Amino acid sequence: MEMQSWTRNVRKVIPYTPGEQPKVKNIIKLNTNENPYPPSPLVGKAISEVSMDSLRKYPDPACVNLVQAIADYHKKDSSRVFVGVGSDDVLAMSFLTFFNSDKPVLFPDITYSFYDVWADLFRIPYVQKPLDDSFKIKASDYEEECGGIVIPNPNAPTGVAEPVEFFEKIVAAHPECVVIIDEAYVDFGSKSCIDLTDKYDNVLVVRTFSKSRAMAGNRIGYAIGSPELIKYLSDCKFSFNSYTMDTITLAAGVASIADDEYFKEKIDAVIATREWTKEQLSSLGFTFPDSMSNFIFAKHESVNAVFIFEELKKRGIFVRHFSKPERIADYLRISIGTDEEMQRLIKNIKEILGVK
Ligand SMILES: *Cc1c(COP(=O)(O)O)cnc(C)c1O
Repeated sequence: MEMQSWTRNVRKVIPYTPGEQPKVKNIIKLNTNENPYPPSPLVGKAISEVSMDSLRKYPDPACVNLVQAIADYHKKDSSRVFVGVGSDDVLAMSFLTFFNSDKPVLFPDITYSFYDVWADLFRIPYVQKPLDDSFKIKASDYEEECGGIVIPNPNAPTGVAEPVEFFEKIVAAHPECVVIIDEAYVDFGSKSCIDLTDKYDNVLVVRTFSKSRAMAGNRIGYAIGSPELIKYLSDCKFSFNSYTMDTITLAAGVASIADDEYFKEKIDAVIATREWTKEQLSSLGFTFPDSMSNFIFAKHESVNAVFIFEELKKRGIFVRHFSKPERIADYLRISIGTDEEMQRLIKNIKEILGVK
C-alpha cells in the first residue's frame, strides 16, 4: 500500500502580508500607519527602570498593572479588560474563542486583510459583505443570523467611520453571536463604542497601542467587553500561552496611559496634518473617502496608482498599495507622517504629476 505524505496532514494557510519594513535609512515611511512621533518620554523612563534581575522571572500572567491602568482610563471595572500582544493577538484569540458556529462570520469585503486569514487558519466559515460605491458599510448586510461579526471603526483601509448608533443596532439585533468592533484608529477623531459594552454582553471592542500611542514596536492590544466575554477570552488565552506579554512591555504600557497630556497633543498634531494633507491631495486631483484615521485612502483622477506608488518609492517615500480586491487597485493608502514628511510627499507627488 502506498503511504500518504505527511504534508496531507499539514494545516495549510495563505498568510497575511504585513507592510514593508525597509532596512534603508532616510526614507519617508507612510505605508503601515505607524505614528510619526515617538511614544511619551515616560515610556522610555519606565523601560529603563525595569531591573535586569526582574527579567529572571516570568512576567505577571494576568498583566494586572496594565489591565488596571486601561480599566481606569476607560472608567470600567478591570474584570472587563483583556490584554494581548498587539490587537492582532487579541483579535486572533477572540476569533478562536467566539467564532465557533456553523453559520458564517460576517465582515466587509474591503477591510483589515487579517480577518479572512484568521478565519481560514481557524476554519471559521465567513462571508465578506461588499461596501457600497462610496466605501460605506451597508447596515442591511448585517441583519441575517450569523456566527459572528467583525468590523473596524473607522474601517481600514478606507478610513470611514460610522456612528455608535450604527453599531448599537447591529449588536442589539444579534444576541446569538459576538460582535467585535476593531477600534485600531478610533483615537484619531471618531466615536468609540466602548460604552456599548455596559449595556450589551455580546459586544467586544478591541484597541491597540500601535497607532495612536506610537508603540507598534511594543505589541500591546486590548479588548473591553462584559466580564463574561472577558472570562471566556482569558480561559482560551490561558489554554494557549499564559505569558503573552513581557515584563518590559507591561511597564511601558502603564507609562503610556499615565501621560495623557502628551497623548492628546500628538493625536491633535496628527489630525491637523491629516486635514492639511486632505486639502493638498484634493487640489492635486485626488479623491478619497473622508478619513477619520491616521491615513488617507486616495485615488487620482487620471494617473495610475501603481505608477505613483513606484515613483514615490524611487524617491524614498513608501505608501501602501493593495491590488486586491480589484476595485481598490486604483487607490493608495497614505499614512499621516510629520508636517515635514507630508510636505515632502506633496512636493514629490507634484513632480510625479508634472504639476508646478
Ligand atoms: C494595525 C491594525 C491592527 C493591528 O494592530 P496591532 O495592535 O499592531 O496588532 C488591527 N486592526 C486594524 C484594523 C489595524 O489597522
